Order: sequence, then C-alpha cells, then structure tokens
Amino acid sequence: MRYGILSDIHGNLEALEAVLERLEAAGASQYLCLGDIVGYGADPDACCSRVRLLPGPKVIGNHDLAAIGGLDLKWFHEMAAESLRWTGAQLAPANRQFLRELPERAGGGSFEMVHGSPQEPVTGYLVDEYDARVALEMQAEPLCFVGHTHVPAAFARPAGSLRAAAVEFRSGQPLRIRPDFVYNVNCGSVGQPRDGDPRAACGLYDSDDGTVECLRVPYDVGRAQAKIRAAGLPSGLAERLAQGR
Ligand code: ZN
Repeated sequence: MRYGILSDIHGNLEALEAVLERLEAAGASQYLCLGDIVGYGADPDACCSRVRLLPGPKVIGNHDLAAIGGLDLKWFHEMAAESLRWTGAQLAPANRQFLRELPERAGGGSFEMVHGSPQEPVTGYLVDEYDARVALEMQAEPLCFVGHTHVPAAFARPAGSLRAAAVEFRSGQPLRIRPDFVYNVNCGSVGQPRDGDPRAACGLYDSDDGTVECLRVPYDVGRAQAKIRAAGLPSGLAERLAQGR
C-alpha cells in the first residue's frame, strides 16, 4: 500500500492540489493527514472540504483546534492569532464539525501518527535528538509520523537501545525502514515550508517496500500569496511563502 503523507496544509489550496496530483501519480491510494489543515492561508474551508473526502486516517493539529475555539489564542504569535480569528469565521458548519471530530492520535498496523509528538500529540515540538529520544521511547509502533515543525526530519534508534540519532532524509533519497529500528519521521509542510525551500513538501510511505520518501512539489506560490493579501490577512504570511520560512 502507498500512503500519501500530508501535514501542515495551512489553508494553502494551491499547494494542496499540487501535492495531491503528485501523490496520486506516484500511486498513493490512502492519505495520512497529520493536522493543521487550516490557519495562515486563505482557503481554510476549501482545504477542509478536500481533505475530508480523502481516504485514510487524519489527526487534529493545534491550529485546527484553535480555529474551532478549542485552544486559547494566547498560545499563538500575533500573525497566527489574527489568521486564526479570520479562519474561524470562514469555516462552514460541516467543516467545523469535521475538525471537531478529528482524533489526537491515529494509525494502526505498522505505524502511528500525531501532529506534534507522541508525548504531546497536539502541541509538542519534536525538533532535536533529545526530543526524538523521548518520542521514540513513547511511541507504540515502530514507525511514527509527525508534523508541526514544518521541517522534514527523521530520527531512528535500534530497537532495544536508548540512543536516538537523526538520519538523512532528503527529497529524492527514500528512507529505508529497517525492521530492527524504531523511526520517527516528519515529511515537512504542504502549505508553509520552513526549511528555506518554498516548494510544497509531502511524503510517500510504501508499506510493502518499507520506504518513506519526502517529495518536493512546485506550486503557484504567487496565486496563494495574492489570495492571502486579498483576504486582508497579514502580508508577512504571503511573503514567507516565497522564502520557505
Ligand atoms: Zn503547522
């Protein structure tokens, strides 16, 4: 089975449509959505409608939760809070309901998935090897997908060991999942990449081959930026898309 991995779409419909086209062409038949479907971008409702219909498990992110009033905006910086107030007003009742019903954790079989980290599924950040060591201890499955940082990364440790290390995870170089290792993988952000590469990021997990790949997909950044400006959202949210920051 080939799974498309989508995280941190952030209301960017242009980026979402580009990655879905690429993943479908790559043979994905199920999609794992790791949360933050909304927030920052100008198409939160359309992104919810699109993701809602995709086959496969989905979990909630901190922006999704805040947009429906489930997380205090004091936890967000000013630009994020402003976009979340606007986002909350854009969501159709069916999409509010969809977000409200998303679980914090999902998975089963060979993998599990959370937005943040296994220890704090909605709001925890998994950034460095120290975070990864704790996460790899806590996760129930040998492969855990996370999002939230908007930066592709992978960490691994041999089963039965406490030593976790970052492993190379770059687009075009699939990560081979070894049966004697435990992995934590972040395939990056669809709608607001922050690793300096403005192309949309997503993942492809092939459970038969035992590989996870990070894909980078060009999309119409200018159109997404124009919509953010037209909606009256902070212009910094448009500018950062071109920088991948
Ligand atoms: Zn996010």
